[in-house]
Amino acid sequence: MPLPRPLLARAERTVLREVLVHGPLPRAELARRLGLSRATLTRSTRALVNGHLLTEAAAERRSATGRPSEMLQLETETYRFLGFKLTGDRLYAVVTDLSAQVLFSADEPLVTADVADVVAQIAAVTRRAEKERPGITAIGVCLAGDIVYDGDDPVVMQSAFLGWDGVRLGMLVRQATGYTCAVQNDVLALTTAEHWFGAGAGLSSLALITVGAGIGCGLVMHNAVVAGAHGRAGRLSHVIIDSGGPICGKGHRGCASSYLVNDAIVRAVGGSTLDYSQVLDKARSGDRAALRAFEDAGTALGSLVAHVVNAIDPEKIILSGDGLAVYEFAAHEVHDALTRNLDAEQHVDLDVQPFDFSEWARAGAVLAITELFSPTGDVPSHTRRAAAPSDSIAPIAP
Ligand SMILES: [Zn+2]
Repeated sequence: MPLPRPLLARAERTVLREVLVHGPLPRAELARRLGLSRATLTRSTRALVNGHLLTEAAAERRSATGRPSEMLQLETETYRFLGFKLTGDRLYAVVTDLSAQVLFSADEPLVTADVADVVAQIAAVTRRAEKERPGITAIGVCLAGDIVYDGDDPVVMQSAFLGWDGVRLGMLVRQATGYTCAVQNDVLALTTAEHWFGAGAGLSSLALITVGAGIGCGLVMHNAVVAGAHGRAGRLSHVIIDSGGPICGKGHRGCASSYLVNDAIVRAVGGSTLDYSQVLDKARSGDRAALRAFEDAGTALGSLVAHVVNAIDPEKIILSGDGLAVYEFAAHEVHDALTRNLDAEQHVDLDVQPFDFSEWARAGAVLAITELFSPTGDVPSHTRRAAAPSDSIAPIAP
């Protein structure tokens, strides 16, 4: 049984978001940061405590006046969020609490990539997850593809791995499970997860670059995830790195994808009989050809990072994805190519995040969490702007 989604007033959303992104905060500090009157803060926190979203913790610090200031922290015992990541042939699921801590995870092969079959499989996993972790209030699904909103309805417009186009996935999952379901491009969802709960929490600009089966790029500018005019994450796969390099699937010579994606690394080692994990083993045992392939991939990755820094100058670049072995074997090449390709001499804060494939499904759950902050009825166009963790710091009428 779905636990109804709490409906929050604007000031309540602002207070909750601040605690979500920055951790437990004293009341006085919250009022100061958000520019809220004592009355508004009291009213908002009372509603959030009654709604099982915040709790009052023991006073830990003393305020400037010497009085203990009550701490507000997340209440993580009530609401559960179910996240999915779909690949072309597999489904990953996690249940998290309100702080995006994973409480349950599952993964299984897709029976087929047919829309009706995938929705039925999501519904079956949802029933299992409900038994394991009662209190689920919303679902979030992420996948590689372009997602646009038709009103409140997320529509998968293009997903090459699944072969989908024009699929109203949010509505179909809602009908099959009874839960509201947000859908987002996987790289944008992971960018949101890093921005709210990860290495990018509290930053107003960052770029996330993911390496794996493809190359993804998500941007945060002015404290909001950039959703693009057509629901697309940034695309860096076919930036030319070396015009004399190998040919990619689109016929480019020497683009980033011809060096950097997992399949390209396997091809470079020359093994039609090898898979990526075997190439990894070879590199770990010191095989020269395998190491060379990772070094070339590292050079491509460093160049891409430099392009992003040159274009938008973010506070931080986060590297993630299941192809991060590139950094393990070729950190030197990454930094070398980065320095060589930067327009200006500058320090780049490059944050390499340990990655587990369930991170993608957790990003789906974060999507469901951030839906708490997206009031319906203010959707401006066919593409909904991704939520930002603290974009409503603007004064709020008491
Ligand atoms: Zn290409």
